[in-house]
Amino acid sequence: MKINQATIFPLSIPLIEPIKMAKELIVDAKTVLLCLTDEEGRQGWGEASVAPLMTGETLDSLLASLKYLVEKARSIEWSDPNLFAKSSDAVLYGNPSAKSCLEMALLDLYTQKHSISLWKYLRSLNTGAVLTELTEIPLLRMIGGAPEKEMADAKSFREAGFKHWKIKIGSLSLEEDLRRVQLLSDLLEGDIISVDANGAMSLDDALHFCISPQARKLSFAEQLISADSSVNDFALLKARSPIAIGLDESIHGSAEIMELMKANALNGASLKLIKTGGVMEAWSCAQILRKNNLQLNLACKVAETSLSGAATASIGFAVGDVPWGFSMSNQYLRFDICDQPLTAQRGHLYLAQLNATGVGVTPNMDRVKDAVAQGYSIIQY
Ligand SMILES: [Mg+2]
Repeated sequence: MKINQATIFPLSIPLIEPIKMAKELIVDAKTVLLCLTDEEGRQGWGEASVAPLMTGETLDSLLASLKYLVEKARSIEWSDPNLFAKSSDAVLYGNPSAKSCLEMALLDLYTQKHSISLWKYLRSLNTGAVLTELTEIPLLRMIGGAPEKEMADAKSFREAGFKHWKIKIGSLSLEEDLRRVQLLSDLLEGDIISVDANGAMSLDDALHFCISPQARKLSFAEQLISADSSVNDFALLKARSPIAIGLDESIHGSAEIMELMKANALNGASLKLIKTGGVMEAWSCAQILRKNNLQLNLACKVAETSLSGAATASIGFAVGDVPWGFSMSNQYLRFDICDQPLTAQRGHLYLAQLNATGVGVTPNMDRVKDAVAQGYSIIQY
C-alpha cells in the first residue's frame, strides 16, 4: 500500500461547556485530522488531539511532526499493520500523537482494502483464549462544575442510561473534593463511580483520600499522584488503598504496564491512542490487561471527534470487555465532523455503529473544512 496524497486539517471545535481538570481548563478541542489517499484512490482518515500535559504535544508541534512523518510516509510501502509503528519510529523519535494519527489513517486504508472493520481485524490478531462478544460498550460520563450543576447532570445522565462516572478532583481542597464525592456517590450508588486527579495529589493526600469514609463507594481512583512519582509510591498507594487504583498519565505503552504490574502498583489502566502512539500498541496493552485480570478503561482525550472515538472503541469491541467504561469524548463537542457521529444510546455505544469497513466512520469533508482552527490552514501534499 502506497500513499499518493495526504491532507492535514488542524481543527478547533468548541466544547458544549468548558471542562475543568486539576491543571487545565479546556474550552475547545484542538484536534488534527489526516486524510490519506492510496494508489487505488481510497481515502483513509486519522485523528489525534493535542495534550500538552499528557504527551507534551501542542497544535503547532503536532502539526510539525505530522507533516514530517507524512512526507517520509510517501516513500514507504505500508503492507503489514504490525510494522506500521516500527516504520514511523524509524523516521521520528517520540511524538506518539502524530504517530497515532498516521497509523489510524493507514489502518483505515488497510482495513477498507481488505473489506473488514477495524475491530474485527484487531480481533483476528488474537492468539489467546476465545474473546467475549460485545454488542455494546458502557460509556463513562465525566461530571464536574458547580455543585448544583454536577448533581443535576448526574441525575439527568443517569436517567438517560449512563452507569459509569468520572468525577474530576484535585483542583479544590481535599475536604471539598471528599464532600463532592460523597454527595455524588450517594446519588449514583450502585454504579461504577471513579475519580480522576490527573496526578495533582501528594502521596499523603492521595492516601488520606482513599481511606476516607466519604470515598468508600468509589469503584476506582485514577492517577491520584503525579506520573513522575516513583514506582514504590504507586505500589504503596495501591497497597494501602481500599479503592482500586487506575493509572492514566503513567501509562504510555505495554512496557510501563508490565513494570507497574510487576510492582503490584495498579488495578487497571486507562488507554488513549495519543499516549500509546496508536491503535496497535493500545490493542497490545488491552490484551496484557485482560490476560492479567487488570481493568481496562478506554478514553479519548477531551475532546476528539467520532473518528478517534471509533478507532478507540474498536479496541474495546475486539478485546470483548471494558469493565471501567469508555470515555467517548465527542459527546462534549458542540458539533462533530461526521454526518452520522457516534452517539450514546442508553449510556452505551453499540457495535452496530461500527459495522462499516475501516475505522467505521467517515468524516464529511465540508464539515472538516468548516472546523479549521483560526489562524491555521489546510496542508496538502
Ligand atoms: Mg485520566
